Amino acid sequence: MVLAVIGIVLFLILVLVAIRIGLNREVVQEDAPATALIHASGIYSIVRRSPREELLKIRPSEENIRKYLLSQNEFLEATQDWLKEIDVLIERWNESLNRNIETIEQGDKDGVEFYFYEFTPVECPVCLNFFRKGNFVTREQIFHYPRIIPPFHIGCTCCIIPHHGNENLKDTTEQGMRPLFLNDTPPPLPDWKTINKQPVL
Ligand SMILES: [Zn+2]
Repeated sequence: MVLAVIGIVLFLILVLVAIRIGLNREVVQEDAPATALIHASGIYSIVRRSPREELLKIRPSEENIRKYLLSQNEFLEATQDWLKEIDVLIERWNESLNRNIETIEQGDKDGVEFYFYEFTPVECPVCLNFFRKGNFVTREQIFHYPRIIPPFHIGCTCCIIPHHGNENLKDTTEQGMRPLFLNDTPPPLPDWKTINKQPVL
């Protein structure tokens, strides 16, 4: 009888030890994904793949932009002047799209991890309702959410600039430099159909 009781107690102790080991292992496993994806060398090539293809999938085509502009009241009586203006808006859209993609492609060659938003040649009044100049994003966030690459809407003057500093921007209080993301998903961004009517420069 005594032996049986000792046996049961020993068994229970073993079970408790096993549970403890199991719990510790779970804790370790939960910690593992916290290692930033971008620091895992094997993942670099995936994170740093050109965002061109993914971005073009989610941005409207030139044809759709033209159709949309032609359907707007101000463009309905499409005179030569309006048609010219539509051409200029589309040209600016394509130019901005290419410039921002190329900035990231070049940044990948240079090992850039942070990018911030800037406006050129003038601030974009549409974007200013959503974020500020100097808000920054990581390369990994761009990989997960290519829609955070400008231009965001027709006539958008926003562009993305590589940050060449070595410091981790998340830990700095550099003036005006604030993360764009307040949590794990991007904040709302302008609808591409919003037209910035600033004079074309
Ligand atoms: Zn804009």
